[in-house]
Amino acid sequence: MSVELGYTPLAQIPEIHSRLLSTFKSGITRPLAYRRKQLLQLARLVQENVTAIEDAELHDLGKPRQEVVMVELGTIVQACLYAAERLEEWNKPEKPTVEEWRSSWDTTVYKEPKGVALIISPWNYPIVLALDPLVGAIAAGCPVVLKPSEITPACSSVLINLVQKYLDPAAYVVVNGSVNETTALLNLRWDHIFFTGGTKIGKIVAAAAAKFVTPLTLELGGKSPVIVDPICDIELAAKRVLFGKIQNAGQLCVSPDYVLVPKSVAKEFKEALKKAYEQFWPSGNPLDTEYKWGKIVSVTHYKRITALLERTKGRVILGGRTEGDRRIAPTVIEGVGIDDSLMEEENFGPVLPILEVENVDEAIRLVGSRPTPLVIYLFTDSEDTKQKVFEGTRSGTICMNDTISQLSVYEMPFGGQGDSGYGAYLGKGTFDVFTHRRSFIHVPKEIEPHLAFRYPPYTADSYKV
Ligand code: NAD
Repeated sequence: MSVELGYTPLAQIPEIHSRLLSTFKSGITRPLAYRRKQLLQLARLVQENVTAIEDAELHDLGKPRQEVVMVELGTIVQACLYAAERLEEWNKPEKPTVEEWRSSWDTTVYKEPKGVALIISPWNYPIVLALDPLVGAIAAGCPVVLKPSEITPACSSVLINLVQKYLDPAAYVVVNGSVNETTALLNLRWDHIFFTGGTKIGKIVAAAAAKFVTPLTLELGGKSPVIVDPICDIELAAKRVLFGKIQNAGQLCVSPDYVLVPKSVAKEFKEALKKAYEQFWPSGNPLDTEYKWGKIVSVTHYKRITALLERTKGRVILGGRTEGDRRIAPTVIEGVGIDDSLMEEENFGPVLPILEVENVDEAIRLVGSRPTPLVIYLFTDSEDTKQKVFEGTRSGTICMNDTISQLSVYEMPFGGQGDSGYGAYLGKGTFDVFTHRRSFIHVPKEIEPHLAFRYPPYTADSYKV
């Protein structure tokens, strides 16, 4: 597959922006029938192009087809249908319960599209992380410029071709580009910016948004820890941690980044990891299984991860093999200390460091001393430990006795806290991101006698009730 795709000329970017502004002002994106049609078109875009999208993911990330369908394509189709079915309900004005004496007033909260939105997406899930926020923007009635990552060009190419073919080109445009194009976009005024990526670039986006007081959702990353309590099903914990770690070769924002396990059960946990590893790859070498184990996205990231592995003071107990073609076997490392290379930054690769601690209290202290993670994975059967971790830590999400399942629950917000970002989405939450809740009150003339107290002249007695 060859990808020849030029970047969007910089001069076109303000033109695209003002075109979308006119579209929004014209009101065509507002009717629910229009929004529903675009959502169903987006579902069709995915359903009718599964092979093309899988091929693009294979080209950019070597991603197994099963993972593409399971995690990316299925998710988008489901999100579109879920939103299309609930549009009326989500968009319905709300009537708050007010104090009795105001019951004759009209007090209504209307749902309005915020306006023209900018979505900037990363490379690790190049389709779902671009299109999932788009579902919410369409449902809310907002035109969108979508800027996918330059690091996955085949996926960007597919997005450009298919979005213009399936969606209304007057309202939804993909801008292809890198830093210059994104900077040009960020120099313009948007009504909402939705950014998914690393914390470093997130800060650049936040500064740009602040210039125009533009509301912003920051879906960032960080090191998400696993805390293993001795009171848990150790074998299942190890299997579920390894499963979470191997998704997209560890290039996942909610990947279990490192494991904190009390010394009393560390040996048992590592043996359980070995058992799970043998179950997942009976040959003992995941790199033998072509198309079943993904690649690292680029040579730069491959070198970054292998450099971390070269510098670690820990010992490889599982995996450890690397191959020139950007492939790294899932690798488990024991004996890792808090100042190890593997604890410096988000690993964002198939590497699982294991840190042994005295007990869960020490694990809580350690997590609390680091930037707030997107998620904490806790394995325990103890209600006391659950409470202790809840009260002693901060994170976007806590996921107990599993990994990555939080992404599949549409009824709950998904987002970070502190360094892992702010704002949240999924399901109705994505519609809410792009929706302004506009309060309306109408105070009837007839209640004037009840309001007499508020008018001057004020006297010493006028405020007494
Ligand atoms: P990134 O921050 O490097 O890039 C994200 C986007 O920002 C890309 O579209 C890129 O073109 C753009 N960009 C890059 N440099 C820029 C600059 N100087 N100015 C403006 N825009 C710029 O992130 P990435 O490497 O693509 O993705 C990996 C990171 O994203 C990880 O930290 C991961 O944890 C995080 N992530 C978070 C979530 C989440 O939902 N919270 C999901 C996926 C990935």
